Amino acid sequence: MSLTRNILLWMSENKFMKERIPKLGFVRKAVKKFMPGETEDFALDAAAQFSQFGIPSVFTKLGENITQISEADLVRDHYLKLIEKIVERKLDIEISVKLTQLGFDHSEEETYNNFIAIVKKAKEKLGNSVFIDMESSIYTQRTLDFYKKCKKDFENVGLCLQAYLFRTQNDIEELFSINPSIRMVKGAYKEPHSLVFKDKPMVDENFFVCANKLLLQSKQNNIRPVFATHDEKLIKRITQEADRIGIKKSAYEFQMLYGIKTTLQKQLAKDGYQFRVLIAYGESWYPWYMRRLAERPANIWFVIKNIFSN
Ligand SMILES: Cc1cc2nc3c(=O)[nH]c(=O)nc-3n(C[C@H](O)[C@H](O)[C@H](O)COP(=O)(O)OP(=O)(O)OC[C@H]3O[C@@H](n4cnc5c(N)ncnc54)[C@H](O)[C@@H]3O)c2cc1C
Repeated sequence: MSLTRNILLWMSENKFMKERIPKLGFVRKAVKKFMPGETEDFALDAAAQFSQFGIPSVFTKLGENITQISEADLVRDHYLKLIEKIVERKLDIEISVKLTQLGFDHSEEETYNNFIAIVKKAKEKLGNSVFIDMESSIYTQRTLDFYKKCKKDFENVGLCLQAYLFRTQNDIEELFSINPSIRMVKGAYKEPHSLVFKDKPMVDENFFVCANKLLLQSKQNNIRPVFATHDEKLIKRITQEADRIGIKKSAYEFQMLYGIKTTLQKQLAKDGYQFRVLIAYGESWYPWYMRRLAERPANIWFVIKNIFSN
């Protein structure tokens, strides 16, 4: 892991910086590259624009590790209201949430109730799935257990898994028996060396191995494989492998973040691949934004450019 990436990930967790950096005008401007605005209305407008290119969306309200359980009720209510707005605007939008935003640090029972309220309403009003984001490794096992519990009662739930973790291949295999919906990502957090592949090419290779497992399994079982990456080489390898083993484009899906490789996003949709764009919004964007900078430290130049742009 590069030093710059380490520093940016450390900054993403630092309380002193968390309180100060989001107030800086040039940072607020730079964030717009990855986020259409702080409220869901900006996100809905962006989703409407993508829908003109046949691209559906995934929405996530930024914020994690709430400090009081009562805040989780507000997040749940936000998503319940959002579903009404999605229906009104007739858009194809799925929701993806962080469990720590729904109370995971405070009460697992309340987190379950909050999450299931969203899942039920999404099924009833939108007929689609709600995904669980994967947070740092201190939550991995608990998140997997939580997912298994939800999947027993509700079909329309999905889970994100991270290719940088050594354990992920095993986790995927263990989930096969419950017909999971899995969104594979490389992984965005600062993790101890004992748990993750150290070198990026090894993470990329593990992503491919995991993707291959999911594709093969999708031939026999009703699973939903989602590959969330902007890595063009990896996307090409996955599509070639899917062709080789005879898997239709409709049987798997790609996802990318708003503001990254938009031309490629439109091209994938045009070429007939299942594709969704993830649109994030919300006031608590700081740690999420710092992780985006850490993924591509060259993005810092964009922030610096904004200091001088006025
Ligand atoms: C839909 C979606 C959901 C996600 N959910 C989670 C989650 O729940 N948990 C989690 O840990 N992580 C999540 N991530 C983040 C993920 O783990 C990676 O950190 C992120 O996607 C970057 O990895 P990459 O696969 O694009 O590959 P990389 O090898 O990092 O990037 C490939 C190329 O994409 C471009 N690129 C990548 N990131 C950026 C960026 N920030 N700015 C500009 N260009 C960039 C660059 O050209 C780069 O060379 C999610 C990502 C997506 C797309």
